[in-house]
Amino acid sequence: MSISASAASASEPQQLAWDFDAAGPADAGAGPARAAVPTGAAALPPGTVEWIATLQPTDADAMRLRTLDMDLLDAERAARLWAKVAAWVESDQIAYYIDDAPVSSDAAYDARMRCLEALEAAFPALDTPQSPTHRVGGTFSNEFASVRHPSRMMSLDDVFSIEELRDWYDGVRRDLDWPEGRPLPMSCEVKIDGLALNLIYRNGVLEQGLTRGDGVTGEDITLNVRTIASIPRNLGGDAGDVPEFVEIRGEVFMRWDDFATLNAENEDAGRAPFANPRNAAAGSLRQKDPRITATRRLSFYAHGIGRLDWGAGHPAGTHDEVADQSQAYGLYAKWGVPVSPHNRTVDDFDGILAMIDYYGEHRGDIEHALDGIVVKVDDLALQRSLGATSRAPRWAVAYKYPPEEANTELLDITVQVGRTGRVTPVAILKPVHVAGSTVARTTLHNPFEVKRKGILIGDTVVVRKAGDVIPELVGPVLERRKGREGTLREFVMPERCPSCGAGLAPAKEGDKDIRCPNVERCPAQLTERIINLASRKAFDIEHLGEQSAIALTNPEENRPDSVEQYAPHLGGTRHEVVVEPGGEPEPYEPAPGLELPPVQTPVLDSEAGLFSLDVDRLRDVRVWREIPIIEVRESVGADGRRKRTRKRIGGTGLWYQTEAFWTAPAPAKRLAAGGTTDGRGDAAAGESAAAAGGDAAARTGAARPDAPAYPGYDVPADAVVVRTETKGSRSGETGAQPIIIRPMENTRKMLEEIDKARHADLWRVLVALSIRRLGPPTARLIANAFGSLEAIAHADAEALSQIDGIGPEIAESVVGWFAAAREPGDWRGEILEAWRAAGVGTTVETNDLPQTLEGLTVVVTGSLEGYSRDSAKEAILARGGKAAGSVSRKTDYVVVGANAGSKAAKAEQLGVPMLDEAGFVRLLETGRPDGDPADGPAGGSAEEADGDAAGGPAGGAVDGPDAGATEGTEHPDAADAADAAL
Ligand SMILES: [Zn+2]
Repeated sequence: MSISASAASASEPQQLAWDFDAAGPADAGAGPARAAVPTGAAALPPGTVEWIATLQPTDADAMRLRTLDMDLLDAERAARLWAKVAAWVESDQIAYYIDDAPVSSDAAYDARMRCLEALEAAFPALDTPQSPTHRVGGTFSNEFASVRHPSRMMSLDDVFSIEELRDWYDGVRRDLDWPEGRPLPMSCEVKIDGLALNLIYRNGVLEQGLTRGDGVTGEDITLNVRTIASIPRNLGGDAGDVPEFVEIRGEVFMRWDDFATLNAENEDAGRAPFANPRNAAAGSLRQKDPRITATRRLSFYAHGIGRLDWGAGHPAGTHDEVADQSQAYGLYAKWGVPVSPHNRTVDDFDGILAMIDYYGEHRGDIEHALDGIVVKVDDLALQRSLGATSRAPRWAVAYKYPPEEANTELLDITVQVGRTGRVTPVAILKPVHVAGSTVARTTLHNPFEVKRKGILIGDTVVVRKAGDVIPELVGPVLERRKGREGTLREFVMPERCPSCGAGLAPAKEGDKDIRCPNVERCPAQLTERIINLASRKAFDIEHLGEQSAIALTNPEENRPDSVEQYAPHLGGTRHEVVVEPGGEPEPYEPAPGLELPPVQTPVLDSEAGLFSLDVDRLRDVRVWREIPIIEVRESVGADGRRKRTRKRIGGTGLWYQTEAFWTAPAPAKRLAAGGTTDGRGDAAAGESAAAAGGDAAARTGAARPDAPAYPGYDVPADAVVVRTETKGSRSGETGAQPIIIRPMENTRKMLEEIDKARHADLWRVLVALSIRRLGPPTARLIANAFGSLEAIAHADAEALSQIDGIGPEIAESVVGWFAAAREPGDWRGEILEAWRAAGVGTTVETNDLPQTLEGLTVVVTGSLEGYSRDSAKEAILARGGKAAGSVSRKTDYVVVGANAGSKAAKAEQLGVPMLDEAGFVRLLETGRPDGDPADGPAGGSAEEADGDAAGGPAGGAVDGPDAGATEGTEHPDAADAADAAL
């Protein structure tokens, strides 16, 4: 590979290819220094440049700062020392005040702080308002000051077709005069849809983090960058391979799983969800208050290198070389700087195409959103010789995948009421196929968004799959409006809740979101809460899904406004209107005298009634269904036979009612001649038998002394005879044929599951109560600590906050909920009372599992075959261990699965033992990764902040609060990818 970058004189900063406009060293502090390679601060005269350069963030070196005589320093060395110590102090402050996980001893922190104060006293120029010495008690705020990048941050040229990519590739070979057939190594990288970041490390210490800005100057977001766990504050690896100065470029992004968790938390807290991971990352990174950034799980992959200056302490030949892009990534890995696991180096154009094909097909499978493939000439010397245009380097290009967009009609905008009462407009679309799935509905977030997008009902609109999973309505196709202006209308946000009629209003002044305040009785909110309590993360009640929840809480959903849309007899028993190809249904005219059926009272008007449900109460529940239009195409097949193909082409806008939990009336079956009749017709006419009888019980039921009511007919024990019809038989006799109804099989199973839920573990009960901010992991912690619902109901915020992993916000939310429940007549109190009476919450948590992980902190990263994100975590918790979200020195083990990212790198950097899945299984069983239970390892830490403690449900983005608004868009691969890592 031609000229190595390290061939430059060691005392000059290396000018890398894309650093073409940097005039020279911008770092005033890094003056020339020619000395022997130092061997540690202890062996050097204090206050010298070499002494300063070798200082480490250790306790011993902190103590050395205490005894330093400031008179030994000149202004330049003082500035150099100040910069180094200030970075450490700032990291300590972040760790202490924001992450709540101190990394330095108090003595070391005090010594560094005192050193800064002494420096600022002796050299007043160093005493600026931004100095960490002025930051007391955790008052942090980003200044977002404009800072010049030491070397310019370029953006890349985009190409949108393989032809353009080929042109670029051929141009590169031509410019380099590259011989035909000779391999030209290219680094291919997945283009992350995130935010570019420039990290500046001086002597291995993170000094600054800058946004790209205009490429020449960026914004200083150092405080926020320090809260990103995967960005090391000190470069690791061999000290000889850590340069005096380096700019590391990369992308800050949010992984799919972290994005889903954040949006679930937002929903629980009643905040609007983010539209896509990029918006979430951008919003998090530009927070004035770094404490907010610290709560967002941001990730970082390095993808470029700016200025690299090895410095006097690292003469050529004494350190790792950086001759090409892939070597830079290798060095980053040694330093503990995360690099994308998807990078590939290829030798020819076919290799590039293979990369593009692979990730084009697996766009939804990786841990983050991607929008293309970046191709770079690997060799840095070749990069330099290719140079750059005024905007972009010639040696790199970004291939963008085709936009996944489609046009369709915006049929209507309705509103949807969420679990916490948030009312969101939802676009109803003519179903359209985008990026592998059909989109028929998509959320519009809030009325301002509808205005901002300028869409009118009736418009042709562009639908895009943002980040492949969540469909987004981009905006109207204005040309299509011509001549149809009269058919378009503006969306008006209703003033009253479409579900309960309560007046809608923002929760507080200035909120973009509008809410239904009727938390207690609003059917839509109750429906969502019932769906929540039946979900797998709560009571886990099978057969109680969205449709059943609607039938129980809001059976009049979709009730037509007038009898004109009520067609109870149209379309026969199949309830469908059949048309020929191209045909239209006949106009519908309701029969004279037809009236809408009476409005039903919901079976459930609160969660309180859940455990008193029985088959009888469900018998008359009916729900509204739309009559579909079915197109039937007749053709003659190759075998000469007529064939009929049926296709649902839309809805008629006409509605009928149908049974929700029982079968429609149907004649009882005749028993075969000579069949045993005794014990069969044992249901008295018009009466329901035992709730959970079922066929088996009926068929084998003992003969009853009284004669069967309907001889010759099979009337099961749980059936109800609604009437009889007179019917002649073959033998000429006439008899009364019973017309029966029965609970559906799923109804019976649902009731059995509800009955079982009375004995659910305490943490599931807590989740089922829909208390804001309380997800399964935190509910588990509280349940374990208190042991009974009674004890939790009377716990105060202080007692709850003392549980490791329970923050003040969750504690307040729980205390507030139970306090409200104690008010006389409060609906929450009614739920608790009814559930208690049913025996809920009295089950004592029994965990027979050996507590093999007592005192151990385990982090799982990447995807495991036998465990999902949640089940791995639960396996750890159930054995007394702590499942942490991020790797720190206090982590005992890191379990590394497939496609593990930065956490594995961090573990390597910190020397934390890493296990594969088999090791994890042994660890769970025995408490030791080698399976030898002889002694447990040294105890872990109870203090470590658990980044995941407040986590919501696992799962992909489709599990987010808006999943309900995105019909048919589930992307199983994306969900798997999101499941892959803790
Ligand atoms: Zn309402």
